[in-house]
Amino acid sequence: MSIKDNLVNIKTSLPDHVTLVAVSKTKPVSDLMEAYNAGQRIFGENKIQEMIEKHEEMPKDIKWHMIGHVQRNKVKYMAEFVSLIHGVDNFKLLKEINKQAKKHDRIIDCLLQIKIASEDSKFGMSIKEASSIIQSEDFSELENIKVSGVMGMATFTDNRIQIEKEFKLLKSTFKTLKSLQTANCKLQIISMGMSGDYPMAIECGSTMIRVGSSIFGNRIYTN
Ligand SMILES: *Cc1c(COP(=O)(O)O)cnc(C)c1O
Repeated sequence: MSIKDNLVNIKTSLPDHVTLVAVSKTKPVSDLMEAYNAGQRIFGENKIQEMIEKHEEMPKDIKWHMIGHVQRNKVKYMAEFVSLIHGVDNFKLLKEINKQAKKHDRIIDCLLQIKIASEDSKFGMSIKEASSIIQSEDFSELENIKVSGVMGMATFTDNRIQIEKEFKLLKSTFKTLKSLQTANCKLQIISMGMSGDYPMAIECGSTMIRVGSSIFGNRIYTN
């Protein structure tokens, strides 16, 4: 099936409250344009340099989401245009995003990445770390960021029960943190679910899914 067909099939299956991020990492602009021409406007990339190049080449009504792990020293390169940063997992990074957003007179939306997987390799913070950041004095001074939700990645496993348990953990974390609402923290988004598990993620409360291979086909990594 074509990229357009894949996209239309997924979109028609989604409830209205779920936003689709088309994860286009490693894919050429021609593939992204096919999705764009089929109506897709939100694209997710995990490398800043690649996102910048695609942003330069493509129409300017696209919303670019950074879904990968972000190095602090690279925030400045995307601060002018990035629409949502999914993987924020420490306070220093939030502070840097705030600093760079200020230079461009913007408020950048961020999601706190929560560690829900059992694997050691997955980034993210605990619910305790997240809540102490939100309640801190230092955080309240960040006027150029807005924490608008949480993001999580389930363990890479075939065990559906485990994945479901992890998604439910993110949903309950969201509920807990939502009650801590501040001027720059208004939680609305739960970013969870990828090609292999997004229907289950939606059942567990996801409001934003990040789907790559089911739209664009499998990725081929050359390095
Ligand atoms: C690559 C990636 C996805 C998409 O994965 P697919 O299995 O291709 O849908 C989603 N989220 C993150 C953080 C990713 O890095």
